[in-house]
Amino acid sequence: MNHVDPSHLVELALGNTPRTAADTEALHHIAHCARCRDDLHTMTRVVEAARTAELIDLPTTPPARVWHRITRDLSGEPTAPERPRHTPDRRKRALLALLTLATAAAVTAAHCSRHRRARQQAAARLPGDPGCS
Ligand SMILES: [Zn+2]
Repeated sequence: MNHVDPSHLVELALGNTPRTAADTEALHHIAHCARCRDDLHTMTRVVEAARTAELIDLPTTPPARVWHRITRDLSGEPTAPERPRHTPDRRKRALLALLTLATAAAVTAAHCSRHRRARQQAAARLPGDPGCS
């Protein structure tokens, strides 16, 4: 099996949906793969941090249009009606969504970095092989 897709790791870390056969297969892989286990551990820590975060943890309050856009995107509605501002639960969910996206980006960057490093090491082992760029 290939490594677990970062988006699937995020879903597992969130634990919001009932477990599927794909989840069971992914967890079996994670049990035997240090890399995926580390990635899941990192995402789980970010999710836990996001769930316990308070608005005061944000460096500044984002403009209302940001919350409106996030809420609209999460609702799946093309043009959601204007919603009341500063609803704590809604803002907390938006913060969680932002942190989840940041985690996915960090994991993807780490994955790319690892992949690049592995290619460089492989190229160093085979001096006559030009390797990948
Ligand atoms: Zn793996």
